[in-house]
Amino acid sequence: MADVALGEPTHVPATPPPVFELADVWTTRVDKRACSLLLKEACAEIPLPDALAHVKRVRKADDGDDRLRLVVCIASSSSSSSSFDDDRDVPDAARALVTRHALPPLERDTVPAHAPRTREQWEAWNARWPISWKKPMSHLAEPAESPSAADAETMRRWTREAIDDARRGGGGGCVIANAVVIVDPASGRVVARGRDATGGWRIRRRDGEDEDEEDARRHPLRHAVLDAIDAAASADLARDPPSSSPLPPPPPPPPGDDDDFGGVGEKRRRAPTASLAEMTAEIGRGYLCTGYDVYCAREPCVMCAMALTHSRVRRVIYAIPSARHGALGGGAYSLQKERTLNHHYDVYTFGVDA
Ligand SMILES: [Zn+2]
Repeated sequence: MADVALGEPTHVPATPPPVFELADVWTTRVDKRACSLLLKEACAEIPLPDALAHVKRVRKADDGDDRLRLVVCIASSSSSSSSFDDDRDVPDAARALVTRHALPPLERDTVPAHAPRTREQWEAWNARWPISWKKPMSHLAEPAESPSAADAETMRRWTREAIDDARRGGGGGCVIANAVVIVDPASGRVVARGRDATGGWRIRRRDGEDEDEEDARRHPLRHAVLDAIDAAASADLARDPPSSSPLPPPPPPPPGDDDDFGGVGEKRRRAPTASLAEMTAEIGRGYLCTGYDVYCAREPCVMCAMALTHSRVRRVIYAIPSARHGALGGGAYSLQKERTLNHHYDVYTFGVDA
């Protein structure tokens, strides 16, 4: 890995923020007294697609007309469909509604194509056509501000350490892709370090040569994050051996993880599990990496991102995004705020191009 310069860390949203785009719709004008019935029929017979659930179907006319304007249906985006009658994408139910109520000529208009994420987006987009905005649930909300100067400096310091660890290599002549430093932000203490130990494992095992300690660590799944979590668990055990403080069962699995692997006709009995709060109370501290910050030279993959979820980390900071393998915003996945999982964490990146 070449040396890299670290600028300012930026927060990685769980999903890319929506941009302002417009969707075409057909609208009609309707008398206020008739609007209620027409709206009811339109919603029942011509529901808008889920992607436009944020669009309010009725608004006041903004050209001095006393009548209200109602979204009848979506319109074809093709410019050749300049009239309602010519638009082949108009559903039959919409044509029937227009005929049944003898509606005036329909007008083409546009509405915001995406639901707003923030209050600022809602205020700006609402001016085009009225839309609704749902405030995100607090545990899924994004941090409102970028990190403070002191926080950014702390992020730079530990991310730099992870990069230096990666550049030092994994021993045995193998190049390593990633290195990780886990830090307790409350004390500034390094909890554990990890580095990739996957390279060359098959060749070395097959040769049957005497393995040194570095070779013995190699495993196809020993990515830097898993290596660091393993080291954190070992440090945890050394500090607080099971004989002095028996660990309770692991935390409950994420919702939906209820596959039954028992025999035919018999239900596998699941051992009772402790909640995170019960576990914290029992062992006098958080489970595994609860509340810790994880600094990575490179963006973690899907396997590692899930391991970080299980370990209950607070934040993940990485230097180099990976469009191909990344699971925390650099590629196709953003698992840090996945709704179906039972723990979430914030992610920051330095966006280094390497
Ligand atoms: Zn990984």
